[in-house]
Parts: sequence; C-alpha cells; structure tokens
Amino acid sequence: MATVSNVTQGTVFKGTGVVAGIRYAPAVWISPRPELPTAGDVVAEDLREAELERFKNAADVVAARLAERSEKAEGPAAEVLKATSGMVNDRGWRKAVNKGIKGGHPAEYAVVAATTKFISMFEAAGGIIAERTTDLRDIRDRVIAELRQEQEPGLPSVDGPVVLFADDLSPADTAALDTSLFVGLVTELGGPTSHTAIIARQLNVPCIVAAGHKIHEITAGTDVLVDGALGTITLGADAVEAAAMVEESLAAAARIAEWKGPAQTSDGHRVQLLANVQDGNGARQAATTEAEGVGLFRTELCFLSATEEPSVDEQAEVYAKVLSAFPKSKVVVRSLDAGSDKPVPFASMADEMNPALGVRGLRIARGNVELLTRQLDAVAKAVKILGRGDEAPTWVMAPMVATAYEAQWFAGMCRERGLIAGAMIEVPAAVLMADKIMPHLDFVSIGTNDLTQYTMAADRMSPQLAYLTDPWQPAVLRLIRHTCEEGRRFNTPVGVCGEAAADPLLALVLTGLGVNSLSAASTAIAAVGAQLSEVDFETCKKVAAAALDAEGATEARDAVRAVLAEVS
Ligand code: PEP
Ligand code: MG
Repeated sequence: MATVSNVTQGTVFKGTGVVAGIRYAPAVWISPRPELPTAGDVVAEDLREAELERFKNAADVVAARLAERSEKAEGPAAEVLKATSGMVNDRGWRKAVNKGIKGGHPAEYAVVAATTKFISMFEAAGGIIAERTTDLRDIRDRVIAELRQEQEPGLPSVDGPVVLFADDLSPADTAALDTSLFVGLVTELGGPTSHTAIIARQLNVPCIVAAGHKIHEITAGTDVLVDGALGTITLGADAVEAAAMVEESLAAAARIAEWKGPAQTSDGHRVQLLANVQDGNGARQAATTEAEGVGLFRTELCFLSATEEPSVDEQAEVYAKVLSAFPKSKVVVRSLDAGSDKPVPFASMADEMNPALGVRGLRIARGNVELLTRQLDAVAKAVKILGRGDEAPTWVMAPMVATAYEAQWFAGMCRERGLIAGAMIEVPAAVLMADKIMPHLDFVSIGTNDLTQYTMAADRMSPQLAYLTDPWQPAVLRLIRHTCEEGRRFNTPVGVCGEAAADPLLALVLTGLGVNSLSAASTAIAAVGAQLSEVDFETCKKVAAAALDAEGATEARDAVRAVLAEVS
C-alpha cells in the first residue's frame, strides 16, 4: 500500500508500550463516534412515553449485542464484554436517562446528559474507577448510534493486516478484535491498566497507549512501524529493514512460546519467577503458566465494590480460591492496600487532599487494627482449611511500610498466626532503613510502581509524567541495589513485584543487582524467563552496572542494549 501522510517521513511518535512486539502495516482509524446531540427542543408531554420506549429498545438491542459477543469470547475478553453489557443494563444509569426523557429531553440527549453525570462521578473517584469512563463513553455512543439507526461505531472492515489507531479503544471493540487482521494497536489516551491494555495483553497484540494527540497527524493508509516494547510508532521506515525487524520479533515470540521454567540464566543462576494475581480466576490462569507460585496477591482488588467488610469466613473463602490454585508452591498474600488509586469502600478514607501520600496500605490499620487482624485470621484460616504446610508456604506482606516499628508490629501479628512475615519496599524511607527493617522480617518484596512514584515525586497515574514514573530511572535502580545489598547482609530474600519485573530487559538488570525472585502478570512470565535463559549471570551484573551508571531512564535502556549487543 502506498505511504501517504501529512507528516514528515522518519517521524517517531512515542507512547507507553504495554504489549511488546514489532509490526509493520498500514494504519487504519477506528470508525468515528457519533456526533453528540445538544439539548434540542423540548419533547411534548404526550410523546415522552414513546421516547422512553425508543430508549429502552435501543439500550436493550445494544446490551443484547454485547452479551452475545461475550458468549462467543473467552477469558477476560468475555468478562469485559459482559461487564459492558451490564453497564447498559445498569439500573442507576437507565433511571437517570429515563428521568431526562420524562423531563422533556429527546432520548439521545438524555443519554448524553446521564452519562456525563456518571463520568464526573467516576472521575472524582479517580484511579482504576476513572479508567472505566471509556466504557461509559462507549455505551453512550453505541446507544446513540442505535437510536439514530446509524452504523455501530467501532472497528472498520479491513481486508489485510493493519495497525489500528483510535483515541481510546472501547473494551467491546478490543475484545472483538481479529488479531490476524489487526496486528497492532495504538491509542491516543488510556493507561497501562486500562481495559485496552488488559485485553491487548490477553490477545498478545503489540500495543501502545497514551501516545498523545499528535498521532492524529497519521492518516489512514500510512505504513507504520510499531514497537510495543519501546512504545514507538515510526513513519517512513525502510520497508526491507522493517520486514526484518518484524521477522526477528516473531522469532523472539516463538522462542518465548517454547520457553519452559524454572527460570535461570544460561549458566544456571536461579531466579524464582512468580505471578501477580488478584483472584481465584487469575490464580488458576497463572497456574497454567511456568510461574512457580504467586509473588503478589493483591487482596484489595477482591473488594473494590464491597461496601461492607466481608466476614473472616467470607474472606477465607476468597483467599482459599487463590491458595488452592497453587497447592504445592509459595503464595505471597499482600494485606489490604486500600486507598489512593485502589479505593475499597469499607476501608478507604474519603476526601484526602493527597491520597497517594495519605492513609493507604498498612497505615489504615493504625486506626483500625481489627481490620488487619481479621484479614490475617482469614488468611490463617484458609491455610488451615487447605492443610498447607512447608511444601506450600504462605507468606504475608504489608504494603507501604515506612518504619522499622511498622515492620516489627506487622511481623508480630503474622507470627502469632503462624504466617511468614514480610513487607513491601515501596517507600524510599524503607530502603534507607533496610538495616533496621529487615531484622524484623522473613522477606521483602520491592514494589517498583510505588517506589518509583515516591522516589521521583511523580504521580504514577499521570500520563504527562510517564517519563519520570519509569522504573528504569537510575535513582530507582540505586535504591534497589541498596535493598539487595542489605538483603544479602541480613540473609533476607528480596523479590520485585512491581511492573518492572514484567520487563524482560529490566529483569536482567534486577537479576544482576541480586534480586531473588521476580513476580509479574502471568502473561509476562514466559518473556521474562526466555530473556533470562539467553544470558549468563556475569552479563546480568554488567547490564546492572551499566544501568546504574546511566544519566536517565532512556540512557539506562540504551546502555543495557549496548552491553547485550557487545556480548552477543
Ligand atoms: C507496586 O507498588 O509496585 C506494587 C506492586 O503494588 P501496587 O501496584 O498494587 O501498588
Ligand atoms: Mg504499591
């Protein structure tokens, strides 16, 4: 296909890469969203009943269509489609639309007004909830298109491989993707935890999010080279070179697919590779990979919509689902990390000025120790019911530990219940005080997402600050080095369970720094394991030294690539 674009050839656009892989294909844009109506004329009273009926029919059609697609899909894609269909059936939302219609608005405008209200509420909640506003806009647009009998907004029909561009992909569109045609995804908006990113990971389609408004300069039909690891979209690449890069990327993907654990470097230095999970389904999925256990069970994500604290028995049941997926291996349970971007209605503080620096994680237990002791009781109960012994150790760690006192306090409560006690190292103070903190604990696990946020004083949810909230920042790597040194001194195992552990190249650096275990999303495990198997431990140490000595995150990546090119 001819390359046509109104931007200079050779231009590189940059976003956040969320699924690795290189692809070269023409760009296509998602079908436009409907123009949103303005308030318009007031509907006469005697016509409002018919208007209510018209809305109901359109919403029912959209909900049924999404539910039907959900039945045809699998795994998270099916769940996302089901959840989106559920949103169209949401009683609160429908009630708000009906109220608008009864007040005299045409159905189309009543849909816009009600959705806008819900979007503001979701945005005010922030964090993961705010990322769900894409789903709301999506159902709004689908219902409006249906009301107008227009074509459903979303995926265009294509007859060959393309890279799909969009402002933000709706979960429903992403879940319905045919990956033999849509070989790459690029969105202007979205974050690494948005539904687009989650499903792209599941489908294993190279994907870049938060690429910025400038990508609208890329016109349909332009050949683009996307690199989902680097987060780059290059125009005007040499077609022959691009084809070679794609071939190498596909070969690497095949090596990853064939990789078998346990993870070790080419000369046999072992690193335990574990999975990050959030519920029984995720744990069962992780158990089908080469993960040797669970390195981070984010318990708060089980309770994001619970308005009341579940009882000890109810919690024990939830935890047992995860533990039983790994009956013969280690599972690290994290105590509730409620607050900030993970609001748990029964545990989080309302209206803090600065929630990331507020009462989150272990800090909540200071004012409500029973919340924590009941959770630990529930973990201990699940362990007992399942009869887990030394062959399947259950470790428990606290998030947001900042002082030696907190570590000692938490460890005491765990040990009273026969649980192995640890702490996340994600507050810079905990790194600096590692020599005082580690003696109280059996293990530590570095949360690079928050450690980076707090070290760089940059909000991890801010797309504008993505260049700072990058775990390749040498400042963060130096803190990890210190933690590993202290871990060796005190014989305390040091793991990493933040997103850094899911980056194969960074995993080499972490291994070189002396990290004992890496815990990542199940979908990232094979890529990390395959990368480790290709280099020896000496090379890991060399890349670690190069990254530590770099001036910034980009330079650290480049320095590591240069060392690898030299040794290969
Ligand atoms: C982290 O901060 O790196 C971490 C693993 O915890 P979370 O992302 O859940 O805050
Ligand atoms: Mg954290």
